[in-house]
Amino acid sequence: MIIILLGAPGAGKGTQAAEIIKDFDIVPISTGDLLREEVKKGSDLGINAKTYMDKGELVPDEVILAMLEKRVKAPDCANGFILDGFPRNTAQADMLKELFSNNGMKLDCVVNIAVDKESIVKRLSNRLTCSKCKEGYNRVSKPPKEDGVCDKCGGSLFQRDDDKEATIRNRLNVYDNKTAPLIDYYKKEKLIIDIDGSKGVLDIYSDIKDKLSAFVK
Ligand code: AMP
Repeated sequence: MIIILLGAPGAGKGTQAAEIIKDFDIVPISTGDLLREEVKKGSDLGINAKTYMDKGELVPDEVILAMLEKRVKAPDCANGFILDGFPRNTAQADMLKELFSNNGMKLDCVVNIAVDKESIVKRLSNRLTCSKCKEGYNRVSKPPKEDGVCDKCGGSLFQRDDDKEATIRNRLNVYDNKTAPLIDYYKKEKLIIDIDGSKGVLDIYSDIKDKLSAFVK
């Protein structure tokens, strides 16, 4: 099964991907995480990508596509995968279509998680991530037991460089102008599942699970 998770930054795509993989035997692929790994390694790709990421701009399509193509062809993706953060514009959606058709892959559905803007700014500016196991926290809705420390593995928690308010607002503008048109793009292909992302994590997931199971039957 191949799924795309669509939604503004902070809509909860990564959180829901982590739930989906517990029930469906597929791997999560986040292009944002792949880029952050490159930044951490200090590779040329990472150094170049960081200049865009810090401003909340999109990294050039060709760079992302090459990185994604390598990832989806890895053996652990043979049973399917969830794309979180890709595609981000219609050019990437067209490139993805070509990549899938060249490799005998088929997109099953696109889960669109909708959340209002102000809640997103509040969520993202309070978001923390474990530097070791990547577990997500939120100072307001899911604080760690001990300040700055991961409950699960004891790793230190950090705030992403692009989760500062000015960058968040730019990322949301980029989403409106470039990514939101993908809702209509995939509606035309009758692949969209609409999800209300304003509820709690488990309620949202229960909704996704029901609709996904019905959709891919
Ligand atoms: P994310 O973790 O998905 O919010 O992505 C963080 C940042 O990585 C974005 O603001 C972009 O700068 C970059 N990025 C992630 N995925 C893509 C993509 N598909 N196309 C272009 N840039 C991306």
